[in-house]
Amino acid sequence: MVGELIGSEFPDEIITIGGHLDSWDVGHGAHDDGAGCMQSIQVLRLFQKLGIKPKRTIRAVMFINEENGSRGGKKYAELAEKNNENHLIALESDAGGFAPRGFGVTAEESTIEKFRSWLPHFNPNTISYIKKGGGGVDIAPLNRRLGTPTIGFIPDSQRMFDVHHSPKDVFATVHPRELELGTASIAGLIYLIDKYGL
Ligand SMILES: [Zn+2]
Repeated sequence: MVGELIGSEFPDEIITIGGHLDSWDVGHGAHDDGAGCMQSIQVLRLFQKLGIKPKRTIRAVMFINEENGSRGGKKYAELAEKNNENHLIALESDAGGFAPRGFGVTAEESTIEKFRSWLPHFNPNTISYIKKGGGGVDIAPLNRRLGTPTIGFIPDSQRMFDVHHSPKDVFATVHPRELELGTASIAGLIYLIDKYGL
């Protein structure tokens, strides 16, 4: 499932933000990965709500079948290649809807340094670091096929495995404030990438 805001200046440059629609067969998949899906949609909604018209195309993607073969991610990359799409970078949120901590980035060293130079824009209680290496299962095929740089959103991990792939992964365990802080952090980074490039 794909929704996008078309870029005003560089519509052919695509920034993909994603989560996955399927879940493990116990629980409801609220953290894994309802949270990532909602955050991806909400980034687009935040841009709209704030009247920000992105220069590049920002696409929210709900991948399917992440848990059992990642055929959605593979198909997305296959179509991207077939349609000759230009994917600037892709971000995945698939580590739970917990309070934000940092981002992991698989890209050129100069891009990672550029992202680090933006850290002062974030409250250190939310995003405090950019680490080298990161992405996600759904966007890895884009990196493999097209060489697209990837970003993994990293929330606090202390409680993830209390719920992960268990009957406890339900809506009530997602704290709205923590989820929103993560969304705002992702939107902030995407805003900066759209504005200044890599
Ligand atoms: Zn997942």
